Amino acid sequence: MLAFVKKKAGFGGELLKWLEPSIQNPNEVLIEVKACGICGSDVHFYEWPEEMEAQLSKAITFPRVLGHEVAGILREVGSQAKDFKVGDQVVCETWGGCGLCYYCRLGRFNHCLYQKRIGQKADGGMAKYVVVPSLSLYKIPENLSFNEGAVVEPLGVALHAFERCHFKAGDDMVIIGPGPIGLLGAMIAQAMGVGKLFVLGLDVDADRLQVASSLGAKSLDITRDDYQGIILGATEGKGVDLVLDVSGGKDSIPIALKLIKQGGEILEVGIGPVFPFDYVELVRKEAILIGSYRRLPSTWMRAINLIASKKVDVRPVMTHLLPLEKTREGFETLRQRKGLKVILNP
Ligand SMILES: [Zn+2]
Ligand SMILES: [Zn+2]
Repeated sequence: MLAFVKKKAGFGGELLKWLEPSIQNPNEVLIEVKACGICGSDVHFYEWPEEMEAQLSKAITFPRVLGHEVAGILREVGSQAKDFKVGDQVVCETWGGCGLCYYCRLGRFNHCLYQKRIGQKADGGMAKYVVVPSLSLYKIPENLSFNEGAVVEPLGVALHAFERCHFKAGDDMVIIGPGPIGLLGAMIAQAMGVGKLFVLGLDVDADRLQVASSLGAKSLDITRDDYQGIILGATEGKGVDLVLDVSGGKDSIPIALKLIKQGGEILEVGIGPVFPFDYVELVRKEAILIGSYRRLPSTWMRAINLIASKKVDVRPVMTHLLPLEKTREGFETLRQRKGLKVILNP
């Protein structure tokens, strides 16, 4: 089969003829991949930026088929995967949890101590087939397309952030970063009854900010607009209840601290190089800084419900649908910050 493989550290990845995987354990299933999104983390693996080298080297082993935003059809089902059958339409978690470690026993599979995530420590979904443990699987209903299915994983990242904070209907909110997770966050915020919603981006994000505006947010370009004046002006000088940072940028937390009201919450989802910030401002404002990492099984179920019930329409982020043969073009598109979600159809 054809697969997009990263063979070693450094820039790039290649389309190669790869051995078709088969299930090795009775708890595993074989998925025929119908759609696989390219994630921001895949772009990090592809680009291999020097400042992230230490983080990336720990996260992946080689050679590796990339891709974890998978939707497809079950073609083989191990004897222990009792809740599933051949032909089921599914999406899958990057690592469903070992089910046995301390965190798995607490139900916090996202903190499993023995993670072997697809696209990193096990072969991923940028291929015709992928093998995963059945603990990773979620069925999707008929009215959800495979391409929408590939967006459940990033939607889950945004949704889990809302599970981590104390957002209430009517709260005012800022989202820093108009990429796919930020815009999916804006969709969830609207579905949950956000008050005033602001989305911040850079001049290179003009197209993405336009999508944010179409979702009912006030879009601001921080390189050009007086975003602080506008947001404080719109909130009687107090600032907003919640800032969600999905960019992990150098100035994100300093900006969040300027825009948050006293006692407000800053949700950090972004992962990138590490930057210091002025924590005294956090102390003075009694602001609460919350980390949010991946998702829980319940997040998957709720994310699927949100799309299936049409409360959240993820189609505006699905900007590029490409055959697997054009994977490299997909990566290059995202490197130039063009489009939002590139979805590969093997
Ligand atoms: Zn992802
Ligand atoms: Zn575990």
